[in-house]
Amino acid sequence: MKVSELTKYLDREFPLSLQESYDNCGLQVGDADSDITGVLLSIDVVEATVDEAVEKGCNFILCHHPLIFRGVKRITGANYIERIIRKAIKSDVAIYAAHTSADKIIGGVSYKMAEKLSLENVVPLEADNEQVYKVVVYVPVADKQKVSDAVYANGGGSIGAYDCCSFSVDGAGTFKANDGCNPYVGNIGEIHTEKESRVEYVVSRRNLTKVLKAVDEAHPYEEPAIDVIKLENTIVSAGMGVVGDLKTPVVPLEFLKRVKETFRCEMLKYTDINKVETIRRVALCGGSGSDLVGLAKKMGADIMVTGDVKYHQFFDSYDGPIIADIGHYESEQYTKEIFFNVLSKNNIKFAVQNSTIKSNPINYL
Ligand SMILES: [Zn+2]
Repeated sequence: MKVSELTKYLDREFPLSLQESYDNCGLQVGDADSDITGVLLSIDVVEATVDEAVEKGCNFILCHHPLIFRGVKRITGANYIERIIRKAIKSDVAIYAAHTSADKIIGGVSYKMAEKLSLENVVPLEADNEQVYKVVVYVPVADKQKVSDAVYANGGGSIGAYDCCSFSVDGAGTFKANDGCNPYVGNIGEIHTEKESRVEYVVSRRNLTKVLKAVDEAHPYEEPAIDVIKLENTIVSAGMGVVGDLKTPVVPLEFLKRVKETFRCEMLKYTDINKVETIRRVALCGGSGSDLVGLAKKMGADIMVTGDVKYHQFFDSYDGPIIADIGHYESEQYTKEIFFNVLSKNNIKFAVQNSTIKSNPINYL
């Protein structure tokens, strides 16, 4: 597999359109034509991560935090970013970042935190609602699967956590090819009847253009009949942070101890726990989610667990849930599992390894 092919796949799994305006997800360094020898998964990229990739025979690093956030005007090695870029280029190691794109997908960073804490009924804290379209394709029965595969590969046919969703019914399609046509079946000037399937898929607005292009390419007809119908429905297609329920409510201190152990925290900051008797609903946001405390309150959360909470933001707990700061790195450490699962889905032929370099720059005394 080439770097360009893996990049295309990752861009689909972690859509760049989801990233925040300040972000810089996607392929940051790399030769699109190189063959992939192995992929190293990491949260951050430091110089030692590039060395580790080379040692482990990986020429592709899939990381969470972008190495390059803003414009780089020169690469002379004057700062650590320039040195890492230089080292990656010299070592022929590609770097791909899935940052807020991985935060916002359904099943992303905060969902992984919820999974680790065994939360139920998990939904996004700040949901992105998207317009839904119904795409109806009339296709010869024998070619139905080919068209469906093209739709699914481009994000169509997804409803909530389900994918590959469609409805179909078989019938008869008629058409007459006129002079200048090059019909797939039938003869010029004769009305032809073909056994066709009418197949329906839901497609979100974000995926509509690429799904229609893919259907057009997969469809055997010269002029495929495709209906696009705008629906009243919207779907939650992405979101930042999550909220979910504990199967068995616990007293706050017990819950905090569980969080500390689960996220291997050396230290955990938290606000007054006496205001709540038991923890039932939990809001989570990997990284820096303190801006979502208001939404956590609205969603009925008893506690908000995130990282990077500033001193004055802790005061929000007077009018909202308990706030627990477990550390930025600690909250996102399991993101590598998301990367691994996404790559595993793609029937990859190269080795995927976890970085063991300590990239968290913070120490605790
Ligand atoms: Zn982060």
